Amino acid sequence: MKFVDEYQDNELAGKIASEIATLSTIPIKLMEFCGGHTHAIMRYGLRQLLPENIEMRSGPGCPVCVTANADLDKAIALSLLPNTIVTTFGDMIRVPGSYSSLQQARARGADIRIVYSTTDALEIARNNPEKAVIFIGIGFETTAPTVAAAILRAQKEGIENFSVLSCHKLTPPVIRALLESGEVKIDGIICPGHVCVITGSRPYEFISREYKIACAISGFEPLDILLCVYKLVKQIENGSPRMEIAYSRAIKPEGNKPALKLMNEVFEPADTVWRGIGTVPCSGLRIKATYQCFDAAKIFKINMKPARENKACRCGDILRATATPVECPLFGKACTPEKPIGPCMVSSEGACAAYYQYRRPEKEHDAA
Ligand code: SF4
Repeated sequence: MKFVDEYQDNELAGKIASEIATLSTIPIKLMEFCGGHTHAIMRYGLRQLLPENIEMRSGPGCPVCVTANADLDKAIALSLLPNTIVTTFGDMIRVPGSYSSLQQARARGADIRIVYSTTDALEIARNNPEKAVIFIGIGFETTAPTVAAAILRAQKEGIENFSVLSCHKLTPPVIRALLESGEVKIDGIICPGHVCVITGSRPYEFISREYKIACAISGFEPLDILLCVYKLVKQIENGSPRMEIAYSRAIKPEGNKPALKLMNEVFEPADTVWRGIGTVPCSGLRIKATYQCFDAAKIFKINMKPARENKACRCGDILRATATPVECPLFGKACTPEKPIGPCMVSSEGACAAYYQYRRPEKEHDAA
């Protein structure tokens, strides 16, 4: 298949891996920000192709996983209000909140519908004018523009029963927060390919400029990732960190300007809570006052019980890159995709789900 097969060539992958092995002389710890990269790395066995001195860590790039329990609890509470339909992407349904999940709320009679796009959610609102239709807005800069477009569409069409619970998050501020914390020493970051299609590379340039950490943006095919690792290792070995685009067929430095314009028209940055990381300044997107009639957080007032976490689950550590899924004592035992305890085992971008689905004999440095 054009544009896929050519990025999955085994022979070429072996050649790049051997170039990486020749080039790397020191222990190197890389973080792949994005859950999509974690899944590709595990699926194609890329960790096994890399030399022992290169360690890969997952980061906080799974929007479902980083959604705080308080936000999840709010979505569940909204679904239990009378005359309400909650619409959401499928990944959210089984994520355990503080006291239950959307799936359990649905079993109690809540009208919760899985949608594949905001267009579907708008259609449900058009077809059910007597009900309040709430879309749970989860995602990074990748999805926020489409949600903004849905709000503008609802305004244009006069769809008054549609609203959004915005749990959207911005990626550069959380990378900064992780680097500022100094909790984990990272030598290089594989920046998120899908997000950068929208934002461009410029918002991530601070990583090398201010923190002197290697960074490159990767696509999601095995050769994309290996090429990105090669570029990162080269930067690290040469002591010359800089932003590199290793996904030039999709990324421009300036990003997708129309999509950014849409996002900035409807949303504005706000402090928000990330699971396992806490409140990160200006890392969330709230709906601007001009569009508050579409803001579920403003429309519906709910008394919430305090959020709580399952203390045995190490999703927070995994999202901060201070642990790998196999370091969680529940991994593959009490916690499996069939009976998930934390979001990282539920989401299609979750690190625990990736490690479980594609598990192979572990490298020594992952077995601690
Ligand atoms: S294996 Fe399960 S309990 Fe452990 S960190 Fe992952 S999701 Fe949480």
